[in-house]
Amino acid sequence: MTDGPSYGFDTLQIHAGARPDPATGARQVPIYQTTAYVFRDADHAAALFNLQEVGYIYSRLTNPTVAALQERMATLEGGVGAVCCSSGHAAQIMALFPLMGPGKNVVASTRLYGGTITQFSQTIKRFGWSATFVDFDDLDAVKAAINDDTRAVFCESIANPGGYITDLDAISAISDAAGIPLIVDNTSATPYLCRPIEHGATLVVHSMTKYLTGNGTVTGGVVVDSGKFDWSANDKFPSLSEPEPAYHGLKFHETFGPLAFTFHGIAIGLRDLGMTLNPQAAHYTLMGIETLSLRMQKHVENAMKVAGWLETHDAVEAVTYAGLPSSPYNHRVEKICPKGAGGLFTVKLKGGYDACVKFVDALEIFSHVANLGDTRSLVIHSASTTHRQLTPEQQEAAGAGPSVVRISIGIEDPADLIADLNTALNAAK
Ligand SMILES: *Cc1c(COP(=O)(O)O)cnc(C)c1O
Repeated sequence: MTDGPSYGFDTLQIHAGARPDPATGARQVPIYQTTAYVFRDADHAAALFNLQEVGYIYSRLTNPTVAALQERMATLEGGVGAVCCSSGHAAQIMALFPLMGPGKNVVASTRLYGGTITQFSQTIKRFGWSATFVDFDDLDAVKAAINDDTRAVFCESIANPGGYITDLDAISAISDAAGIPLIVDNTSATPYLCRPIEHGATLVVHSMTKYLTGNGTVTGGVVVDSGKFDWSANDKFPSLSEPEPAYHGLKFHETFGPLAFTFHGIAIGLRDLGMTLNPQAAHYTLMGIETLSLRMQKHVENAMKVAGWLETHDAVEAVTYAGLPSSPYNHRVEKICPKGAGGLFTVKLKGGYDACVKFVDALEIFSHVANLGDTRSLVIHSASTTHRQLTPEQQEAAGAGPSVVRISIGIEDPADLIADLNTALNAAK
């Protein structure tokens, strides 16, 4: 199909990027389980290697099953191109890699997935990069944190674990004024609930491991490019604006225009970092995305019911779900994610750390796992697991203190979920 802008989300989640297989007519996107592709002749091979012609060379760079997923994700996010990679964490490195360099920094929200806080505060230092963490509800602090060496601003649309909603319009106004790209991790919202590019994001990253695949089968990540950033406005982004020695002095922005970031991601990022998504994983994710809108509606509906009920339980001190009128983030739902605040939130128990551990152990339907965004309902005690590497201050700032349990609401019968939670809360008293 031609991806006309007139098609609705429910149509695009099934059809974007997919067309009947030209060789066989296969209606479903085949799993192209191949490493390499035969060149027509030596000239064809040379043109592909020179980036003068787009095509398939080797599956570390490009693969038709993965390409279908890239096109689908770019379409659903409203971007011009996308690069898939092996995990959400790989996507974050792939997003930062063309922008950063030794001595450069990223200004990041304190409310992030725990693994991202560790990646940004510890591991990226090995590349000579650094992160400055600030409260993204404090706009003056975000402004003040940006300096001459800042190359990106990073936040989550609906932030893990608390389900807090970031005012993307206010943040993108700041990054725009500074001439710095805004990277938004849209994992918890998915493009069904939030489209960060419409709120000014330059790049959107996902852990496709979560709601996009949706059933806890494979890890995957993607970087979607809005195509809107002027990489040549100044000398801050030489990887994209200056001659690339590995391609005979080709300048990505001059040559590929709005697709500069995407081409760089494939031709340099995947080629040399090798964090490639395999075609089997792409297949599972394409299958998952076909039902994304249906699942997200049910996740939101169930989360509203369960969070509302939890708030009334006498063992519960607080529930962070932004869909509840009691949430300080409730007023942002309509602006940022009008179809709902997702399926992820935390619950704070009056009994503290011990009650949390008992509660998690007493649940039957909910699984205690380090994952979210599954059809199944999941819980985790963040302070002892995903946010364990963080200092107590970082845990509190991320909304993952010791008396907090993160809940990812699945698409089961909400009455069963409530009954299970009720039994476990009473057992934990
Ligand atoms: C899980 C997750 C990641 C990391 O993704 P992986 O696929 O596990 O590497 C990044 N950001 C958010 C918001 C996540 O939930």
